[in-house]
Amino acid sequence: MKYVIVGAGPAGVIAAETLRKADPSGDIVLLGDEPEPPYSRMAIPYYLTGGIDEAGTYIRKTPNHYDDLAIRYVQGRATKVGAGGLATEDGGDIEFDRLLVATGASPLDPPVDGLDSSAVHHCWTLEDARNIIELAGVGSRVVLMGAGFIGCIILESLVERGVALTVVEAEDRMLPRMMDKPGADMIKAWCEGKGITVLTSTRIKAIEPAPAGVRVHFEGGGDVPADLVVVATGVGSNTGFLEGSGVKVEEGIVVDDRLKSTQDAIYAAGDCAQGPDQMGGWSVHAIQPTAAEHGRVAALNMAGRDTPYKGSLNMNVLNTAGLVSCSFGLWDGVKGGTSAESLDREASKYIRLEFQDDHLVGALTLGRTDFVGVLRGLIQGRIPLGPWKDKLTDNPHRIMEAYLASTMA
Ligand SMILES: Cc1cc2nc3c(=O)[nH]c(=O)nc-3n(C[C@H](O)[C@H](O)[C@H](O)COP(=O)(O)OP(=O)(O)OC[C@H]3O[C@@H](n4cnc5c(N)ncnc54)[C@H](O)[C@@H]3O)c2cc1C
Repeated sequence: MKYVIVGAGPAGVIAAETLRKADPSGDIVLLGDEPEPPYSRMAIPYYLTGGIDEAGTYIRKTPNHYDDLAIRYVQGRATKVGAGGLATEDGGDIEFDRLLVATGASPLDPPVDGLDSSAVHHCWTLEDARNIIELAGVGSRVVLMGAGFIGCIILESLVERGVALTVVEAEDRMLPRMMDKPGADMIKAWCEGKGITVLTSTRIKAIEPAPAGVRVHFEGGGDVPADLVVVATGVGSNTGFLEGSGVKVEEGIVVDDRLKSTQDAIYAAGDCAQGPDQMGGWSVHAIQPTAAEHGRVAALNMAGRDTPYKGSLNMNVLNTAGLVSCSFGLWDGVKGGTSAESLDREASKYIRLEFQDDHLVGALTLGRTDFVGVLRGLIQGRIPLGPWKDKLTDNPHRIMEAYLASTMA
């Protein structure tokens, strides 16, 4: 059997390794278009702060790891997919019996003039990270465009590098897709307390060259100087090369519960796949645990081991300049559901629980890490809370007691 995996990030690497175990004699090609050995983007923040070197980001650190598993790691870019084969940028053709698309996502640029300046970078690849390290020294003036999940991860690294940071977010709050307004306002106040300038409801209009670095102009007036602008304004699935292949793409590649696309021999995994969501429906989660699990399950199915994908829980844990925030599942609630919250602005502590009937379906926390496992367990396990739902509504801090009582019942 000839297996080809396009994309050598976490989803692709785990799929290749799983295939090798499931089919010891199969022919496995892992095609990746980046110049480095397969690495984890999740490790980039640690590379930015000097906690690890570049090699520390590599997914597998043993020399010859892929050769030893008879996985053919090929550097190249897929440009087209047809029946039983794909074309590569260098004019090559690679045949397959089963194809896994694990091409991840790429940053999306907002319509802003001047993004082509050498002072403007994304923070998505190792190459981006090298460019940021060069420009973000102690005291450098840095503008971070976008305060979403990725923006706030980078924020932490930039603060550690000692830069003078301005965060610009077009929406009315930081983390608009992970945190409600009260929680986001507390994160903003926390950042400001650390000396970071945070401009919400503010859009960048243009970036112009200046005698030193650039000037960043805002819609509606005003500007700031910068040595570096980091753009973190969202990502989109890498699926352009599938045009004409018959593979259906919506927000990501449409897959069934075996992670098979709308074409029989083609599967998808990771940030490019719109996979089963544990809370119902199908979503692109764009987090590494989902990518890894997609890769594993897709590979088992490709090798003929029928394995349903039970769905992933959307869950984000983030450290923003020392303040840890978490969001789980349907954190902004469900129609007809109820919620409970406890907010202590002074102490920067917040917990919000979302219920549907007597089930916990989502949660937000700020300044607390002790509940993470319990909240995840209650949501993932769909554990009925019975009388504990009312007790939690009165006092959400009793979540550990609720977990113990409900799981022992
Ligand atoms: C700075 C940063 C921090 C992050 N931190 C976290 C975190 O703390 N927790 C978390 O869960 N997630 C985090 N993420 C997200 C996480 O990295 C992604 O969810 C994960 O990388 C997805 O894995 P993947 O294999 O689907 O895609 P990717 O890792 O993007 O790998 C896909 C690979 O396919 C390649 N490719 C694309 N098109 C082609 C083509 N046509 N031909 C060949 N190759 C192609 C890409 O270049 C890439 O190398 C972070 C991301 C970033 C950028």
